[in-house]
Amino acid sequence: METAFEKIASTLKGKPAKYSRFMRFNKHKMQPNDKRRNVCTRCNRAEAHISIHGLNYCRECFREIAEDIGFRKYGKEA
Ligand SMILES: [Zn+2]
Repeated sequence: METAFEKIASTLKGKPAKYSRFMRFNKHKMQPNDKRRNVCTRCNRAEAHISIHGLNYCRECFREIAEDIGFRKYGKEA
């Protein structure tokens, strides 16, 4: 899919002055966004990632498996 950046860049190809100016101020958009966000190793959710202690789970998977991997709740005992 063509991004807005590529679209504008292609329309400015015939206008060298505007093209160079556009590239000067939008250079960072050319770089590929290969840095993938941390995702849960269990369900691939990218939000609410828990990476502490090398867990790499999301909050929901952590809730489900926390007791199996040795965490326990403090405070109110159910
Ligand atoms: Zn998960």
